[in-house]
Amino acid sequence: MPANPDRIIVIGAGPVGLTLSLALAQADVKVCLVEALGDDNFLEQVPRAGTNHPATLEMLDRVGLYQKLEPRGIIAPVVHYWDRHDGKLIAAFDHGVLKDDTRFPYVLQCERIKIVEEALQLAKAHPNIELRLATEFVSFAQSADGVTARVISSAGGEEIIEGRYIVSGEGARSLVRKDLAIEFEGFTYEDRTLNIEVAYDFRKHGYAERNYISDPAEWSNLFHWKGPPDRWRVHFPTDPKAEESELTRPEALQARLQRFLPTGKPFDVLGCNLYTVHQRVARKFRVGRAILAGDAAHVNSPIGAMGMNSGIHDAINLADKFIAIARREADETVLDRYERQRRHVAIAHTQAQTIRNKRLLAEQDPQVRRRNHDELRRTAENPELARKFLLRTALFESLREADAIA
Ligand SMILES: Cc1cc2nc3c(=O)[nH]c(=O)nc-3n(C[C@H](O)[C@H](O)[C@H](O)COP(=O)(O)OP(=O)(O)OC[C@H]3O[C@@H](n4cnc5c(N)ncnc54)[C@H](O)[C@@H]3O)c2cc1C
Repeated sequence: MPANPDRIIVIGAGPVGLTLSLALAQADVKVCLVEALGDDNFLEQVPRAGTNHPATLEMLDRVGLYQKLEPRGIIAPVVHYWDRHDGKLIAAFDHGVLKDDTRFPYVLQCERIKIVEEALQLAKAHPNIELRLATEFVSFAQSADGVTARVISSAGGEEIIEGRYIVSGEGARSLVRKDLAIEFEGFTYEDRTLNIEVAYDFRKHGYAERNYISDPAEWSNLFHWKGPPDRWRVHFPTDPKAEESELTRPEALQARLQRFLPTGKPFDVLGCNLYTVHQRVARKFRVGRAILAGDAAHVNSPIGAMGMNSGIHDAINLADKFIAIARREADETVLDRYERQRRHVAIAHTQAQTIRNKRLLAEQDPQVRRRNHDELRRTAENPELARKFLLRTALFESLREADAIA
């Protein structure tokens, strides 16, 4: 019998592992949270995800994070769709139409790094969370009663941690998923995405804080982030055959930016990175006492900002199931419902929507482009259609659909 029979072992202090740990701890469920990074390098991670949709803001508020994040982010009620080919704004959607649906009729632009920084502070302060930083999870075993996780701490020691369940919030390279030989079904895009960070105020050219820009030759995304210094991220597709060193050369970055917005003056480039985009969903989210959540269970393109958001939704859904088990209000079959609900959302919403988003931005056929743009325009101009559109993109529809799954 494990020494801590009812404790839940969570691997990974990313947004998913931390949200799950906080929600559990706040409901009096004990957690052991294991994270490979230590205090010395936790904040050295790249900022990554950052658009937090209204449904996610409600969840971040539930665990006490929203108030900490709002001052560190940018409230962005409006999202723009642009046609770069014709240099025109196609449609502007204002989340204000969701004012009767949510307390947060806007997205909050606030990067992953700020979320995990604030969440880690809350986790450190919570007596129900045993936080094991600088500790690498290596493998696990499960029995009818519980789980044991083998970890190695930076202090050098190997150790066995015991608990009732193990949750992989390890991200896309989840060892738990690999250990269980769960297939990660889907595909990887040939073209990688180039992300350039620029200190330049694009609003003076009519852009909103969030912009999706379609172009058959070179689609793009443009997002504003709070500094100091304030920065904008511009995403571009890249030639699959080009070398990274060629794509990220300072002259190449300037040339791309000048093609995008010819200012005639060099842009102040703060950084850049190139990343590979996968669209994959794990065949199973649960095997006995081991459960996958967030990027460990599903990955997708960032167009539409759904990866971290849907991972946080996994975390809250799963937390409620564990809380119900701990309070003896449900038996462990509710964990299968977690899988049914969240796997459905991953496939029918996150994958479908992000794949559609990329197709919309990169569409080559002029007639299809025109039809798509006309539809976007008509949708944005009609408040009821705009509300339905935003209920879908802001992830409320996925939550309602999941609720209806038995
Ligand atoms: C450039 C970019 C932009 C993005 N933009 C958005 C966006 O706007 N909106 C959005 O919703 N999503 C976005 N995403 C996706 C988003 O970053 C991820 O979906 C999200 O971070 C997943 O969270 P997670 O907690 O599941 O995993 P991660 O954030 O990957 O965290 C995993 C944690 O586990 C730890 N870990 C891993 N292995 C081990 C181990 N063996 N032992 C101990 N600890 C371990 C890691 O150190 C890390 O702290 C973006 C991604 C990229 C690359």
